[in-house]
Order: sequence, then C-alpha cells, then structure tokens
Amino acid sequence: MTTVRLSDVSKRYGDLTACSDVTLTIEDGEFFVLLGPSGCGKSTTLRMIAGLESVTAGSIYFDDEDVTDEEPAERDVAMVFQNYALYPHKSVYENIAFPLELSRQRVDEAEIEQRVSETAELLQITDQLDKKPKNLSGGQQQRVALGRSIIREPSVFLMDEPLSNLDAKLRIRMRSELKQLHERLGITTIYVTHDQEEAMSLADRIGLLNEGRVQQVGPPREVFERPTNTWVAGFIGNPPMNLLECALDAEGETERSRVPGPGGTREMAGVVRNEAFSYPLDAEAVADVEAANTGSRLLFGVRPMGLTIVEEATDWTIPARVKTVEPTGERTLVTATVGKTEISVETGNEVTDAIKDTTIHLRPEKFYLYDGTGDLLFVSGARADPAVAGGD
Ligand code: ADP
Repeated sequence: MTTVRLSDVSKRYGDLTACSDVTLTIEDGEFFVLLGPSGCGKSTTLRMIAGLESVTAGSIYFDDEDVTDEEPAERDVAMVFQNYALYPHKSVYENIAFPLELSRQRVDEAEIEQRVSETAELLQITDQLDKKPKNLSGGQQQRVALGRSIIREPSVFLMDEPLSNLDAKLRIRMRSELKQLHERLGITTIYVTHDQEEAMSLADRIGLLNEGRVQQVGPPREVFERPTNTWVAGFIGNPPMNLLECALDAEGETERSRVPGPGGTREMAGVVRNEAFSYPLDAEAVADVEAANTGSRLLFGVRPMGLTIVEEATDWTIPARVKTVEPTGERTLVTATVGKTEISVETGNEVTDAIKDTTIHLRPEKFYLYDGTGDLLFVSGARADPAVAGGD
C-alpha cells in the first residue's frame, strides 16, 4: 500500500511545457483519476510517476521515499496502456501468468493456476486462455494486458486510457469491473482519461489538468457541484455549464427590497445584469463578490439541468429565445439564446417543438458567480423562486 506524492513537478520538452508545478497527493488505496483534454499533460504526469520519463523539476515520493531518480523497475508499479504489447507467441494463460513466472521462488504452480483463473474470470476471458493474442479482439487483448498487471498485485497501478479501444458497451462493463477489482484489491490506482463520464464513475477523487496545470482536485460530486473556475465549469458536465457575462449592480433596482421567500423574508442587496437579463442577489452573494474585489465583470453560471422553464416572467427568471428542441430519449435538450449568448437547457419531455422561436422564462435553481479571471466567487444554495413558492 502506497501514498504517491508529487511536489512541484514540471516537465519541459525544449520550449514546450508539458507539466507545470504539479502538486498532488494520491492517498493510499485511492482510485485517483487524472482528467483533462488531449495534450494537457496527463500521460506525461503518469509516465513520470512510473519513472519512464524524467522530471525537469520537482520531486516524486512513494510514501516517504523520494523515488524521483529511481528506475521504473525499482518503483513496484504496474502500468496498463491503451495499446499494450502482449507476447504474441505465448497463450493468454502464459501472458497473464508471466509476471508470476518471473518470481517463481515466491509463487508455486498451483497458486499461479489459481490466480490466473481468478483473474481470467474477473476479466471474462476464461474461455480464451488457450488462444494466442492475435486470435483475440482488441477488447479481449486489452483484458489480457489488464490481467497481466493485475496478477502482480503491485503497490501502485498506473493506467493510461486502458478502456479507450473498447466499444462503448464493453467499456461501461469493464468500468464497473475495474471498480470492483479496485475495491477488492485496494491498490493505489492512478488512472488517466479524457472521458469525464469514465472519470466520474471510477474516481474516489479527480485531478483536473489543463495546459499542464492542476485546476482542481476533489471527489466527482464536488468537481461537478462546485467547479472552482470557469475552465472546470466548462469541462465538466455535458452540455457544460452556461456562462453569461454580466456585471454586478449593488445599487440596482431591487436594492434592499425585501422579497418574501420560503425561508422567510430575504433582503436583496443588488442585481447582476447585462443587456438581456437581470437577476437579484442577496446580501451574502453581493458581499462575496465585493470581498473578492476583482472588478465588476462577472460570469453568471447555471447548469443546463439547473434551469426550469416557467410560465410567467418574474424577478427571478431569465428570458431566452428558443432555437432548437432536441429530444434525447430520457430528456429534452433545448438550445436558446439569452441576448447574444447561446445556452443549453435540459428539461423533461413535456417540452415540444412548439416552443421553437418563442421567448421562454428560465428559473435558475442554483447558480454560480465567477470573476473576470474565471475564479469562483459564490455558489447559491438550491433556491426556489419566492414568487412561485408563494411566500411565507
Ligand atoms: P495527454 O496525455 O494529456 O494527452 P501528454 O502528456 O501526452 O498529454 O502531452 C502533453 C504535451 O507534451 C503535449 O503537447 C505533447 O505533444 C507533449 N509531449 C509529450 N511527450 C513528448 C515528447 N516525448 N517530446 C516532445 N513533446 C512531448
């Protein structure tokens, strides 16, 4: 069992900076996912942890041991790649057993057989054990590669997009198998992917990377519910969070007006607005924005699912013009514009094409305020529209 710690790790290739000051602690037994778009430095980070790539600056520790200059073989890690070269002349059984064969003195034949059989069962390749890799599908080959690293029970698993060559259905099944496997073995796992759904479903915690820098680290729910900057807000969620440029007007028309709400009468201390909408803010939100002192330019963020279409316009609704209505099966996706900004609204199937080219009123159930540099300033509680809820 091993804790992996990166301290200010950077990697440069000539003029290109692949990783910048990456500082992360991956806890003992944790399933940690490095998530970010292609080219953001995920693989480079993983390869530095494996020892396959040197660091330009910074240090890497396994527990308290500085492994920065250690060879891969000294680190007791197992790495699974997207394309893992299997031994073509060996059978599936021999491929999986190979790491144990190497340590013959510790593992006898009966145990090898038992562990290969368990691993094969877990990966659903029991009936493939006698075949050669070339007679397997890509998905099955990747299972064998997984099996080969699983069977070693290393102190750290490093996985670089191991499921990306599998078809969608198999990927989802393998995902849950990987999770069960991790729960059973409890081995510290660092997993690289660009697929947020995969990250969400697998991770204890996610580390989001963009342009070689860590943007946020947290459990899946937290990075979804509380994205610390607009980059994370725009990356996590599908469709991503809507962001409307606006400015704070603390002397706005609803200044100090008292709005009756479900939790009692609340004092509104200002509004955010642009040419297309305005939305009242309570004293807490205004205080948070003013305390940050980062200027009046703001972004009002709301997730597509955090918007409800209501009949009547109120102080608490945002007018939007509907462009398209797309049923997706379970839900309906509405694309609309607020002024010049295009937004997405995810709603139930009661919405039909009839609302196309009309103006609708959207009530945010929860909203975010980001400053002009993209940093999170405020997250509202889930809030009902006082006018709709009927007051005290
Ligand atoms: P990711 O895994 O997130 O897709 P990588 O870590 O593979 O990203 O790459 C990060 C950046 O470093 C990219 O711009 C990539 O082109 C560059 N890079 C990666 N490996 C090398 C290398 N060996 N030589 C030069 N540039 C590299």
